[in-house]
Amino acid sequence: MQVRFWGVRGSVASGDLSRIGGNTSCVEVTSGKHRLILDAGTGARALGDVLKAERELKLTFLFSHLHWDHVQGFPFFAPAWRPDCDLTMFGPGADGAEALERALTRQMEGPAFPVPLTAMGSRRIFASARAGEVIEEGPFVITPLDLPHPQGCVGYRIEADGHSFAYCTDVEITATSIPRALNASLAGVDLLALDAQYTRPEYDGTAGPSRRGWGHSTNLDAAHLARQVGAERLLLFHHDPGRDDDAVEAMAAEARTIFSHAEPAREGLALTLEHR
Ligand SMILES: [Zn+2]
Ligand SMILES: [Zn+2]
Repeated sequence: MQVRFWGVRGSVASGDLSRIGGNTSCVEVTSGKHRLILDAGTGARALGDVLKAERELKLTFLFSHLHWDHVQGFPFFAPAWRPDCDLTMFGPGADGAEALERALTRQMEGPAFPVPLTAMGSRRIFASARAGEVIEEGPFVITPLDLPHPQGCVGYRIEADGHSFAYCTDVEITATSIPRALNASLAGVDLLALDAQYTRPEYDGTAGPSRRGWGHSTNLDAAHLARQVGAERLLLFHHDPGRDDDAVEAMAAEARTIFSHAEPAREGLALTLEHR
């Protein structure tokens, strides 16, 4: 299983912030010829450009939720315009299929966008990703997880090739408020990409307005969770759009005081979890 990061920012794209990157959420997971795409933030555009050369594409999108930083890249995902592209699109929650189709339709209607979703040539099948209901796609066994976030968010634990990767963007937890079910679902995960948008002073409101209730975690609480569930490796994810490389690296260094295998997710980072 290979995991590749195409967008790691939260909230809004922020230009090229050098080593970390400025695009919003998009992560590609592959095993052999099979490919999953987690969210379609602005990072999806560059992924689509790389897939241009491939014919008869069959892709599965898993959406965490429908906030704009997770869907905004879809109109710019070139394969979605091609008739030789089959897309299976999982929306989050019990009514995820309808909610996802509606959100993608609306973001391509006036006054926001000039061309409608129906003009895209790909075949699109919409489905729902319900927490706890396992999805099997090719070699992947995928468990959707409920995450605390305004209007809800779904994380995904993905197993393939004897390894596990969990994608938990947009989740507000503190070291003392980790839902028991989430704790159990992430137990022993090999690679964990986890929301770490804020510093402690930002979250507490001693540096600007308090971010409590905004739906995101701190680097320190992310590290606590990784330690608590026995993850092998933590990638801090959903970086604040205003944070430069040095500030993101400093947050990772601080996280390592709690969980030693912590680093920032970066655009372009590709990790291979080998067969075992
Ligand atoms: Zn987000
Ligand atoms: Zn969100």
